[in-house]
Amino acid sequence: MMAAGTAAEAGGEVLLLEKNSALGKKLLITGKGRCNLTNACEIEEVIDRFGSGGKFLYSALHVFPPSAVWQFFADRGLELVVERGRRVFPASGNSADVVKVFKDYLAQQGVIVKLNSPVEEIIIQGEEARHIAGVKLANGNFLSADAVILASGGASYPGTGSTGDGYLMAAKLGHTLQPLYPALVPLKTKEEWVKGAAGLSLRNVRARLLDGEEVLGSEFGEMLITHFGVSGPIILTLSRFVAPRVQQGKPLRLEIDLKPALDDERLDDRLRRDFQEYARKSLKNALKSLLPKALIPVVIALCNLAPERPVHQITREQRHQLLRVLKGLPLTITGTLPLSAAIVTQGGVSLNEVDPRTMASRLVRGLFFGGEVIDLAADTGGFNLQAAFATGYVAGRHAVAATAAKALH
Ligand SMILES: Cc1cc2nc3c(=O)[nH]c(=O)nc-3n(C[C@H](O)[C@H](O)[C@H](O)COP(=O)(O)OP(=O)(O)OC[C@H]3O[C@@H](n4cnc5c(N)ncnc54)[C@H](O)[C@@H]3O)c2cc1C
Repeated sequence: MMAAGTAAEAGGEVLLLEKNSALGKKLLITGKGRCNLTNACEIEEVIDRFGSGGKFLYSALHVFPPSAVWQFFADRGLELVVERGRRVFPASGNSADVVKVFKDYLAQQGVIVKLNSPVEEIIIQGEEARHIAGVKLANGNFLSADAVILASGGASYPGTGSTGDGYLMAAKLGHTLQPLYPALVPLKTKEEWVKGAAGLSLRNVRARLLDGEEVLGSEFGEMLITHFGVSGPIILTLSRFVAPRVQQGKPLRLEIDLKPALDDERLDDRLRRDFQEYARKSLKNALKSLLPKALIPVVIALCNLAPERPVHQITREQRHQLLRVLKGLPLTITGTLPLSAAIVTQGGVSLNEVDPRTMASRLVRGLFFGGEVIDLAADTGGFNLQAAFATGYVAGRHAVAATAAKALH
């Protein structure tokens, strides 16, 4: 939608082909229906959040940074608010308002929108210098075009329309695809105890993801225990490290520091104080002020202690064991939920074959890319939509420039 509107604004005659019966189906469910449309941070931070591929976005983000996304929506009457972590949302808290801005923008710029129009194939011509001829729709119709912007999204949440078609279309034209993995996805654990604690939300904890002794990532914040494993903001952030590794059959470890604000010494002081105060109580009752109810039997079992044991019988060594579990509740990560359940798809059209200044294909003249179909995936926080908007904007501008240049020849 951003690419189409921008192309039309730059003077192009634009047709937007959408397979669904409505525009912006995924956009509607973003940010739990509130649409975290960008992050009010510096360009460098956006780049950082995309990991090793982030530098690809340098040029597009300079042209269309978070402040330009803000301005785009503000100019069209959408009031925005900044929340925790500089996440930007519509003040209305309703993603439908974001989709409405796009619909109005497309209408205003004269973009012809064709719904229920799945594209099956991008058609090219020329042997030596291959260039765009048009597209073939699923109903067999051919539509000619001087340029095509492929912005078909990733392969996650396929119910929203992003079924991965664009990957296949790009690959058919010779583009290299980086392997697809679920990113921002809940994680499965080996431990069965999670079933009993499902639904438990842990706030202000630190989760560390480890491959052997190597710390892959460490995040502080909120997480959720589910019937299959773990989820929630900090887990989704760590999940990007998981899929490529566990698919090689390599289980990873997660350690949850349940008391990150207390170092070992201070936590031991606290335990000693609690144990003095509750000396006559059973261990399971003495831990009530320290732990959520659902975790008490889990922590006690991991320490090989009896829940009914009176606290005054707990030895110093047992208390230290308790401390170790509280500072690093261990979980074994065996996998992720499938790609269809991931917030974003990692992998896709190889960055090497896309010009980062124009989003043009390096293989086919007149072909451009925008959004998640490109091999880019970031953290939560509005970064993925920021990148989709920036790459879409650049692709729209340059697709028109390319068709104008063609007309001159
Ligand atoms: C539950 C959820 C919450 C999210 N929340 C946020 C958030 O708050 N902030 C954030 O930054 N990111 C969020 N994301 C990620 C973000 O939504 C995506 O990265 C972003 O939508 C990608 O934009 P896109 O235009 O590339 O693809 P999409 O938004 O997926 O759009 C692609 C469009 O192409 C259409 N299409 C696909 N194939 C064809 C075809 N063959 N023919 C015609 N049309 C086709 C699809 O129907 C779809 O409408 C969230 C994702 C999910 C799943």
